[in-house]
Amino acid sequence: METYESLLAAVTAAEGGRPVVDPATDEVLGHAPERGTADLERAVAAARAAQPDWESLGHRERSRLLNAAADAVDRSAEALAHLVSREQGKPLNGPGSRFEAGGVSAWLRAAAATPLDPVQVLDDESGQATLGYRAVGLVGAIGPWNWPALVATWQLAPALRMGNAVVMKPSEHTPLSVLALAAIVDQVLPEGVLTVLPGGGDLGAAMTAHPAFDKLMFTGSTRTGKAIAASSAGHLPRLTLELGGNDPGIVLPDADPAAIAADLFWGAFINTGQTCAALKRLYVHESLHDDVADALADVAAQTPMGPGTDEKSMLGPLTTGGQFRIVDGLVEQAKAAGGRLVTGGGPDRDGAGNFYPTTLVTGLDAGAPLVVEEQFGPALPIVAYSDLDEAVAHANALDVGLGASVWSSDVERAKQVASRIEAGTVWVNKHGTLHPMVPFGGVKGSGYGLEFGAEGLKSVAVPQVIVT
Ligand code: NDP
Repeated sequence: METYESLLAAVTAAEGGRPVVDPATDEVLGHAPERGTADLERAVAAARAAQPDWESLGHRERSRLLNAAADAVDRSAEALAHLVSREQGKPLNGPGSRFEAGGVSAWLRAAAATPLDPVQVLDDESGQATLGYRAVGLVGAIGPWNWPALVATWQLAPALRMGNAVVMKPSEHTPLSVLALAAIVDQVLPEGVLTVLPGGGDLGAAMTAHPAFDKLMFTGSTRTGKAIAASSAGHLPRLTLELGGNDPGIVLPDADPAAIAADLFWGAFINTGQTCAALKRLYVHESLHDDVADALADVAAQTPMGPGTDEKSMLGPLTTGGQFRIVDGLVEQAKAAGGRLVTGGGPDRDGAGNFYPTTLVTGLDAGAPLVVEEQFGPALPIVAYSDLDEAVAHANALDVGLGASVWSSDVERAKQVASRIEAGTVWVNKHGTLHPMVPFGGVKGSGYGLEFGAEGLKSVAVPQVIVT
C-alpha cells in the first residue's frame, strides 16, 4: 500500500458503495463501502472480544505497536497524502496533505511516548492513596471531513494507547482517507482493536445510541454534538465533543502589519479556511486596519489556489458543494450589506470543482452574518475597532469558544488581553498551531473535553484510586 493506486484499491468497494467525489474536478474517484447497523453489531462484538487482551498487553507493548503503526504510516505517507488531496481537496504542499500525513505519524508517536504514571495523592499516618488510569473499554469515534486522517488519529491514538478498542465512523465525504489510515495501521494492530465503518449520519446516530460504547469522541458541528449528547444520555458514555467555533483575532495598535501578515493569513486560510481552530473574524485597531487588510491581500495574491494534486497549489477547493454555498451565501450577504471586497468574491460558478477564491471583506458591522456565523471557508471579515474593551466584548459575544489570538509587538500586553478572552486556547502572534503535547479543547458551544498530551490520555480512561 505504498502507492496511491494500491492504497485506493485497498479501500474502495469492489461493487456498489457510495461515490466519493474529487472536489477539484467533480469526478468520482472511487466508491466507499457502505456499512449499516448489522456491521455495527459485528464491529462492536469484535471490539469487545479484542479489548481485554489489548489492555492486558500493557503500556509498553501498546506504545511499541503505536510506534510500529507510525512507521507504517511513514512508509505510506506519500500515498496517503495523495488520497487526502484527491478526496478532501487540500494541496500536497504547504500546510496540506503531506503535512497531515506527517501529523498522523507525529500524533501516533506522541500518544506512545506520553507518560501517565499513577500519582500518590496521600501519604500520611492515615494511609496511602494513588490515582491511576485504566482503559474505559470501547470508544466510539465520529469524525469530520476537513482533516480526516489527522482528526481520526487524534481520536484513535490516545484511545488505543490507553488500552481501549475503537470503532470509528468517518464523514461520508471523506471515508477513503480514514479507511486508508486504518488499513495502514491495522497491519500492526491485533484484529478487532480498530474498526472503521464508513456510512452516513444515520450510522453515526446508531453508534451514539448504542449502549456498548463507554466513551464517544466527536469532532464536527455544534448541532450534531448536541444531538449526540441527547441520544447518548440514556446510557451515560463519557463524551469528548470538539465542535468547532468562530475564532476571533484581535490586532493591537502596536502590531507590525508586515511582520504578522503571513501568520495571520495562514491562521485564517489553512485548508482553505476549513479548520475548526482557524481565525474566522479579525478585529483590527482602526489605526492599522487598512495596512493589515492590504498586507493580507498581498499574501493572498502570492498564494495560488488550484487542485490539491498540483504541486504548485497552496490552497485547494472547498470539500463539499454545501460548504461552497455557505461561504458564497455569506459573502453575497456581506456585499449586499455594504461590505467591501479587498480581494476575492466572485467565484467561477461554471467551472469544475468547488473553488471559492481567497476573500477579504471590510466595512461590515460587528453583527454581520459573515462575522457572527462560522463560514468554514476562505472568506475573512476584517472589522475595525477603536476601543480594546469593545474588541474584547465582540470576541466574547458569541456562544462558541474554541480558539482566539492576540497580535502585538508587546507579548506581555498580548497575554493580558488573552486572559480576558473566553476560549479554550488563545495564541499570541499566531493562530491555530497545535502540538501533540499541548492540551486542546473548547468552551461554551465549542464543546468539552481535552485532547492531546497527558490530559488527552486521561480523557479516554477512567480514573481509579487505590487506597492502602
Ligand atoms: P456534522 O457535524 O454533520 O458531521 C460530522 C460527523 O458527524 C460526520 O461523520 C457525520 O456523518 C456525523 N453525523 C451526522 N449526523 C449525526 C448524528 N445525528 N449522530 C452522530 N453522528 C452524526 O458536520 P457537517 O459535515 O455537516 O458540517 C457542518 C458544519 O460543521 C460545517 O459547516 C462546519 O461549520 C462544522 N464542522 C466543524 C468541524 C470541526 O473541525 N469541528 C469539522 C467539520 C464541520 P456524515 O458526514 O456521514 O453525515
